Amino acid sequence: MKIIMLGAPGAGKGTQAIKIAEKYGIPHISTGDIFRANIKNGTELGKKAKEYMDKGALVPDELTCDLVVDRIHQDDCAKGFVLDGFPRTIPQAEALEKALAKDNEKMDYAIDIEVPDESIVKRMSGRRACVNCGATYHIVSAPPKVEGICDHCGGKLTTRDDDKPETVQKRLTVYHEQTQPLIDFYKKTGILHSVDGTKQLDEVFAEVVKILGE
Ligand code: AMP
Repeated sequence: MKIIMLGAPGAGKGTQAIKIAEKYGIPHISTGDIFRANIKNGTELGKKAKEYMDKGALVPDELTCDLVVDRIHQDDCAKGFVLDGFPRTIPQAEALEKALAKDNEKMDYAIDIEVPDESIVKRMSGRRACVNCGATYHIVSAPPKVEGICDHCGGKLTTRDDDKPETVQKRLTVYHEQTQPLIDFYKKTGILHSVDGTKQLDEVFAEVVKILGE
């Protein structure tokens, strides 16, 4: 089962992708998480990616595509995977298609989580992330057990640099210009499914399960 999560930043792609990965026993591959891990470890890739991420811009395709293609060829991806945050541009979608076609494979589902921009801006202002393990929370809809502290590792929770209001606005513009065209791309391929992302997290997941099967 090979799945792509689509949707604006903050639509809940990551949360749903984690739940999908758990339920169907496939790896969750988040390019954002991979970049953040590289930034934390001070790698060359991390240094380059940070320049773009802090501005709310996309990391160039040449730094992104090979990384994902390598990742989906690892053993744990044999039964499928859920991609969260990739592809984000048409050239990335084409690179993914090309890489899979070499093995006579293709993506099975593209799930678009629909949330209007106004709700995104509100949601992102309440988002918090753990400085240590990267787990995400929301001060209203998914608060940690102890304010400001990560449930998983006890790390400190902060607002990610790219979740600051001015950067969120920029990320939304980038989403509409560069990522939204993927909705038509996958509609044409016949694998697009849309769900209403304004509902409660569990209701959204129930919709996703209806699409993917029990
Ligand atoms: P995310 O955690 O998916 O919201 O990603 C955070 C940031 O990482 C984005 O705003 C981009 O700067 C960068 N990023 C993540 N995935 C990609 C991608 N597929 N292509 C380019 N940039 C990406």
